[in-house]
Amino acid sequence: LASRDFHPENTVIKIKGVEIGGDELVVMGGPCAVESPEQIDEIAGLVKAAGGQVLRGGAFKPRTGPYSFQGIGVEGLIMMAEAGQKHGLLTITEVMTPEYVDICAEYADILQVGTRNMQNFDLLRKLGTCGKPVLLKRGFSATYDELLNAAEYILAGGNPDVMLCERGIRTFESYTRNTLDLSAIPVLQQLSHLPVISDPSHGTGRRELVEPMSKASVAAGANGLIIEMHTDPDNSMTGDGVQSLFPDQFAALLKDLEKLAPLV
Ligand code: PEP
Ligand code: MN
Repeated sequence: LASRDFHPENTVIKIKGVEIGGDELVVMGGPCAVESPEQIDEIAGLVKAAGGQVLRGGAFKPRTGPYSFQGIGVEGLIMMAEAGQKHGLLTITEVMTPEYVDICAEYADILQVGTRNMQNFDLLRKLGTCGKPVLLKRGFSATYDELLNAAEYILAGGNPDVMLCERGIRTFESYTRNTLDLSAIPVLQQLSHLPVISDPSHGTGRRELVEPMSKASVAAGANGLIIEMHTDPDNSMTGDGVQSLFPDQFAALLKDLEKLAPLV
């Protein structure tokens, strides 16, 4: 079902007037984690003003260590839904377990599967019947074929609205947090009809690389970008402040991107 052989036309996912996978570029922006109503509301306003269409933010965070901040949970979902509604943005949030799919689907417009859960097959199966579009992140050690097979689980469950996300893979290079695999963008678009989104924030782990790799992703044909932005990155509650853009950088980037591809 994920293969272009069986579905030659591009899949275009339509959500409340926004089309993902069509001619226009979709930008999803926001903090790594939802931290408070004020934080997500302020950032939502900045994403909207800059021309973004989707507010990102994690209420459930997959942290490497069990003692790190794990996200604020369901309350965060509610705060994000309110901010999205108020500012006229779609919302995307990560869901980590099958038990939380229904509640996340109730509050968010798009459900995100994180890199660590790409092969959580019970989760993928549950997302096949959730009724909401899914952004499936590539596992940081997964091949293209494994990513497409993971997408197949969701599609086979009856959900046709899947986007693939390149978010960087693990290589020998340690200067960057991950190595953003730009080739994934055209390859996945050749093998599959599903929209491809690039995540230059996790893909590089370094703020100064987000702008060039966003532009490179768009040049490579990405249908959208998911970018971390924070009003106070140095004090963000996850370690991802170092890769988060400041609001003015985010706005400047979107202005530049409009020259490369029209924003929805
Ligand atoms: C995130 O989007 O904040 C995130 C945890 O992403 P990934 O699963 O790609 O690490
Ligand atoms: Mn993050």
